[in-house]
Amino acid sequence: MIIKSAEFLTSAVTKDQFPDADRPEMAMVGRSNVGKSSLINRMLNRRRLARTSATPGKTQTLNFYDINQTFRLVDLPGYGYANVRKSLRSEFGPMIEGYLTDRETLVWVIQLIDIRHPPSALDREVSAYLQSIFYERHVIATTKADKIARGAYARQLQLIRKDLHLEATHPIFLTSADSGYGIEALWEHVEGRLVK
Ligand code: GDP
Repeated sequence: MIIKSAEFLTSAVTKDQFPDADRPEMAMVGRSNVGKSSLINRMLNRRRLARTSATPGKTQTLNFYDINQTFRLVDLPGYGYANVRKSLRSEFGPMIEGYLTDRETLVWVIQLIDIRHPPSALDREVSAYLQSIFYERHVIATTKADKIARGAYARQLQLIRKDLHLEATHPIFLTSADSGYGIEALWEHVEGRLVK
């Protein structure tokens, strides 16, 4: 993917603040600290477009970025800040749930999982929820691939696939925001639905 332009469009806290649903969108979701902001910045070749280390517990916003004036990347709030176990519904809230279930232009949901750790209970719950809505348009991207040896990739992917109950054909990618590993493969997978 050649990124010609990447611009912050708007932050929404309520549905009426969403931009018009007139372009394909890909949403990025993951637990806080999984490396979501870093990956977004790397995918867009921008150093600080998505802000890293957001304050825990802050207002949940959906951040929309316009890419190449063609499609949008949508940054969902990180889940699982508090160690207290919350329901999926209270983690996401009605605005996010509404976005995920009602947005007709949402063509991909990329869920991020840290390659080093087994998916958390909440990761598994989010994955099941997203799989039930999006099927193969729910994509897993594991982050921080540079933190483990390449020889361990296949085994970790297999463990994640098993933990998340992903079928053998369900898309799963390895990425590293630090090294750039896997970013192009991820773009190649998603671009067909984003760029006509
Ligand atoms: P977010 O809360 O999901 O947006 O996560 P951040 O992007 O703020 O990253 C959380 C921490 O993980 C930061 O200290 C990052 O520097 C680190 N990090 C993110 N991506 C990578 C990566 O690909 N490799 C390594 N080694 N560290 C990463």
